[in-house]
Amino acid sequence: MPDRPARPSKPQTVLEVIRRERIAPHLVRVYAGGAGFAAFRPNEFTDRYIKILFAKPELALVPPYDLAELRGRLDPSDLPVTRTYTVRQVNTAEQWLSIDFVVHGDEGLAGPWAATATPGDLIVFSGPGGGYSPDPTADWHLFAGDESALPAIAAALEALPADAEGVAFVEVYGAADEIVLEAPDGVDIRWVHRGDAAAGTSTVLADTIADFDWPTGRVQVFAHGERESMKALRAVFFDRHRLERAQVSLSGYWAYGRAEDRFQAEKREPIGQILEAAAR
Ligand SMILES: Cc1cc2nc3c(=O)[nH]c(=O)nc-3n(C[C@H](O)[C@H](O)[C@H](O)COP(=O)(O)OP(=O)(O)OC[C@H]3O[C@@H](n4cnc5c(N)ncnc54)[C@H](O)[C@@H]3O)c2cc1C
Repeated sequence: MPDRPARPSKPQTVLEVIRRERIAPHLVRVYAGGAGFAAFRPNEFTDRYIKILFAKPELALVPPYDLAELRGRLDPSDLPVTRTYTVRQVNTAEQWLSIDFVVHGDEGLAGPWAATATPGDLIVFSGPGGGYSPDPTADWHLFAGDESALPAIAAALEALPADAEGVAFVEVYGAADEIVLEAPDGVDIRWVHRGDAAAGTSTVLADTIADFDWPTGRVQVFAHGERESMKALRAVFFDRHRLERAQVSLSGYWAYGRAEDRFQAEKREPIGQILEAAAR
């Protein structure tokens, strides 16, 4: 049997942290730039996302990582792992971009890294990918998500035409986590509070949207966040409101109790599937 050809590594961008800013109790904005920015190619999507590579510091690997070479010599448990993040802002003139990280405690790689990121730290990633941008022909827009989707929702709100209409539901712990969002006057921002419930365990987002008085006209939906919360929204969008799949961008951005590696692997299992099951 012939060997499977080695997967070519995707090009990597290597940037330096310029600054870190706490924009809300559970959100940290990291600005990154430097010489490597010249290699970054933004795309047209408002949900443009990158795959940040985290290598074990004790291995002292030098980026960009030659993943094929590393696969040949390292134990699989020592390979760099990826975490997916939205590029919140790009400033080509000043050669920097920013990423908003949810700070969700000591568990994980990316959240704790961002909480203490220091100027000069390196950030290595592939991408961006993306799949959504506001449809100017939609009658109205519905956005829904938790803090993990807030960067993509914020970028979409900023890209809407001035006369756009709609509503954005964003789930956070409480009023302290609400941030200022730039949006057209016709787009209503509604913060939904989960209170003391742990992120990923509340049904408040889907419950609020289920109770919402749905306007008439053709809606375009962007809904992303914790996986079970998105499954609850799937029922609201497809069972209750009979939306067509093409109107809806819906996916899990993370799953409660799962590190991203497991969350991504579960996309191949029934528990990890959201829209596949909705396309009925
Ligand atoms: C396309 C896309 C875009 C994304 N954009 C962003 C973004 O811009 N900003 C952002 O913060 N996240 C974003 N995410 C989500 C992010 O990839 C996950 O939250 C990721 O799991 C974080 O990695 P970690 O190393 O911090 O934690 P992991 O090692 O993956 O997980 C460790 C533990 O933390 C929990 N956990 C993970 N994320 C959260 C969370 N948000 N809240 C509470 N608990 C959590 C896990 O369930 C697990 O128990 C995006 C995901 C996708 C698919």
